[in-house]
Amino acid sequence: MFEKILIANRGEIALRVHRACKEMGIETVAIHSTADSDAMHVRLADESVCIGPPPARESYLNIPAILSAATIAGVDAIHPGYGFLSENARFAELVEEHGFTFIGPTPQHIRMMGDKIVAKQTAEKLGLPLVPGSPGPVESLDEVKALGEKIGYPVLVKAVAGGGGRGMKVIDSADAAEEAFTLARQEATAAFGNGSVYVEKYLGRPRHIEIQILADTHGNCVHLGERDCSLQRRHQKVLEETPSPALNRETRERIGDLAATAIGKMGYRGAGTLEFLYQDGEFYFIEMNTRLQVEHPITEAITGIDLVREQIRIAAGAPLGFTQADVKFSGHAIECRVNAENPETFVPCPGLVTDYHPPGGLGVRVDSGLYTGYRMPPYYDSLVAKLIVSGGNRNECLMRLRRALGEYVIGGIETTIPLHQRIIAQQEFVDGEYNIHWLERLVGLKK
Ligand code: ADP
Repeated sequence: MFEKILIANRGEIALRVHRACKEMGIETVAIHSTADSDAMHVRLADESVCIGPPPARESYLNIPAILSAATIAGVDAIHPGYGFLSENARFAELVEEHGFTFIGPTPQHIRMMGDKIVAKQTAEKLGLPLVPGSPGPVESLDEVKALGEKIGYPVLVKAVAGGGGRGMKVIDSADAAEEAFTLARQEATAAFGNGSVYVEKYLGRPRHIEIQILADTHGNCVHLGERDCSLQRRHQKVLEETPSPALNRETRERIGDLAATAIGKMGYRGAGTLEFLYQDGEFYFIEMNTRLQVEHPITEAITGIDLVREQIRIAAGAPLGFTQADVKFSGHAIECRVNAENPETFVPCPGLVTDYHPPGGLGVRVDSGLYTGYRMPPYYDSLVAKLIVSGGNRNECLMRLRRALGEYVIGGIETTIPLHQRIIAQQEFVDGEYNIHWLERLVGLKK
């Protein structure tokens, strides 16, 4: 097993990885920018290295600085968390070339799934159902229009290098194709330095259902059930739950087995997530994430499996200690992403945290680096806390979540806690009747 791990991230996820390491008797090395010297992930780590100035490209994305920090600290392995370099195949390669273990999949698998067209082609070969659309990138407006005719409007233009919902545009009719196609390509170029786009049928009322999988280097592969991430704003997840109110046991087993079999055939290693849209009883693969997800704690809550611990064990070459039959799902869990944003305008609101009292009690978990007196820097993502609540069933979970949100005090900055209170007060949410467009209608982004 590793003796020392460098955590190439910040915020709540750096803390999350640190906690798993400490419980395994592994020393941790934090990295940080000059804007994060007082951050909780730096305070708790056994060692820390300042790797650059505030902008992420000069610090958390600065590969030479991170590798130098790993060398100086003498670590065995590097955990990338999510975001930043977690899905950068070149980083994974360089980590290994420098003699460290990358806690994640092989660079080949990261590269393959980072290109959404290659990912879809691979998924199709592995027997996963796809959203109808272009088999490859679309180069011209005529091609977009021909596809619109063939699969029927509305269609969605998506960036091949996509992520975070950027470079995605809906086209309602042939007349709107030119503008959407141009805009999507511009946005994709600006966000990813790659303007390549493809086309998919735009589904009208799907749910976003994703399957968590774990695979070791000994050929064992299991799924840990689904997460329903349909509550989204601008294609970004806001609240997630498991099990999905839309799936029954049989459907869960069907898609879970399909996903685990596909991943097994790929020879994948580590944790991964297969994302699907689900509508009218059918699943459609959209992408695979080759890393830990923000919403992983809800899966931990209902399975009792520590996903970060498993990632570390797998990277160290250990076999999974359990089989599919050993995985038991118990109760219900919901995660609320708490962002430092105005809950109505969603304008980020970094600043000094004057008061901090997280909720507690049975079935309540808070993953956050916040503390009273912490000054949140303006340079990074606005996610400041994850409130994860679990209960014996969905109703108990919802009652507990209402109670926990009411207890949560974060003073000095605005947060999206009131948005979550509003969501869970809606009858449709209580009934589990929502799809990926529901939240945008609630917050007035869509009619
Ligand atoms: P990204 O990598 O940018 O997050 P995804 O492919 O994961 O892009 O899609 C993000 C979200 O966009 C999905 O969860 C869903 O809400 C919406 N979306 C993606 N593809 C479609 C589609 N074909 N029809 C309708 N909505 C879609």
